[in-house]
Amino acid sequence: MLASRRSAGTASSHGRQRRPGRPWFATGAIAAALAVSLFAAWYLVRWASGQPGAGKLDLSLAGTAAIAIGLAVLCIGQLRGRRRAESVLRGIIARQSRMLEEVSATSRMMELLQVCHSLAEMAAVICGALPKLLTGVDGAFYVARGPENALELQSRWGELAPAQSFAPEDCWALRRGHPHLYEPARPGIACSHAGSSGRACLCVPLVADGNAFGVLHLSAADGEPIPAGVQRLATTLTEQLALAVGNLKLQESLRTGAERDPLTELYNRRHLEISLQRELARAQRHGYAVSAVMLDVDHFKDFNDTNGHEAGDAVLREVAQVLKRHTRAEDIACRWGGEEFLLVLPGCAVDDAYAKAEAIREAIAQLRVFCRGNALPRVTASLGIACHPVDGERMEDLINAADAALYHAKAAGRDRVVATDAPGEVVLFDPPGERRALKAG
Ligand code: GH3
Ligand code: MG
Ligand code: MG
Repeated sequence: MLASRRSAGTASSHGRQRRPGRPWFATGAIAAALAVSLFAAWYLVRWASGQPGAGKLDLSLAGTAAIAIGLAVLCIGQLRGRRRAESVLRGIIARQSRMLEEVSATSRMMELLQVCHSLAEMAAVICGALPKLLTGVDGAFYVARGPENALELQSRWGELAPAQSFAPEDCWALRRGHPHLYEPARPGIACSHAGSSGRACLCVPLVADGNAFGVLHLSAADGEPIPAGVQRLATTLTEQLALAVGNLKLQESLRTGAERDPLTELYNRRHLEISLQRELARAQRHGYAVSAVMLDVDHFKDFNDTNGHEAGDAVLREVAQVLKRHTRAEDIACRWGGEEFLLVLPGCAVDDAYAKAEAIREAIAQLRVFCRGNALPRVTASLGIACHPVDGERMEDLINAADAALYHAKAAGRDRVVATDAPGEVVLFDPPGERRALKAG
């Protein structure tokens, strides 16, 4: 390959192009053999027709003819050998250039994967590159997500209609930690996530540092095998992909660990404080309201004592889900600590905040939470609302006012919403929707 490139470069640099073909010695030998054969044939014709000077077939003529024939046979043999060698060489060059393409496409893909910020970005890169590398097969790429490590479909190509998600136990490759090949004609078992298409398929796990981050699933066309070259390349690629996915997941967990509560996946207190400062500054500049809603689960100590800490954790996770469902993208829901949560609602005055808090209170009272298959007793929550700038311009004042309102909700019997109205005064919504002014303190 390099030699042919070099010779092409030299030829063009000299301004002339040598056509690939026979070398000069082969052409010369053929010409000599032809000339001697023609001469022998001419002599034989003369001898056969009894022309003068051709009366005897002497030994030198026979020798000349034999040399001519021998030379011709040699030339033909050489040419055939050369053609065979050329075709082998062409095969090697084709394989090598295919490998070069694979290497450069893989390194291009890896370069892009290094700078991906999310799994979605990564999936787009992988989906663009893998079909071009793993040709002739359909494929799907899964990444392990969530507490159960469920395999979620990130990208797919070809005719395949893969499962959207499946449990790790449904894949033999993940269970064994090695590639798993299924060929219908041979004894073996297909992974249950692959369905019952009866096609040859290959699952290759993405394993790095002993952790399985996902799986690459390939499926051949009906009655076709998975080519050996594709199997080899799939294994090499998944090793690289596992490192890239592992790095991204590590970055993600460091990022989320710094701003999210691990139990509920809501923002943590530190993140909320930073965001609330920013929201209040913006609200001051643009002159809009910001409401803060403090929520506390009622009698949660008793709940834990009766049902256990694990059941308590399940309830906190579900309460967090309720908060996520009732907040917009611009709202901030945070776990303030223990069984207390804080919501920040930019652009939301006290009446709107009350409507939202009331909907949340009701949703929590309706929750059915299960732990290890057992339905847990229902829980209730109390909520206190404070509104910027009426109840405080500074973050600490606003949070203290929301906390004070929550205290009134607890004192008034729990499972209710209380809002501060004016300094020194709180509003109890009792029954829900009906305002009743109380003196604070
Ligand atoms: P009140 O209605 O006045 O709020 O009473 P309470 O029992 O909810 O309040 P208290 O402050 O006495 O108890 C809070 C309980 O919350 C105590 C603690 O065991 C529980 N708790 C705090 N954090 C967690 C947690 O992460 N998981 C679980 N399961 N329980 C927690
Ligand atoms: Mg509390
Ligand atoms: Mg409580």
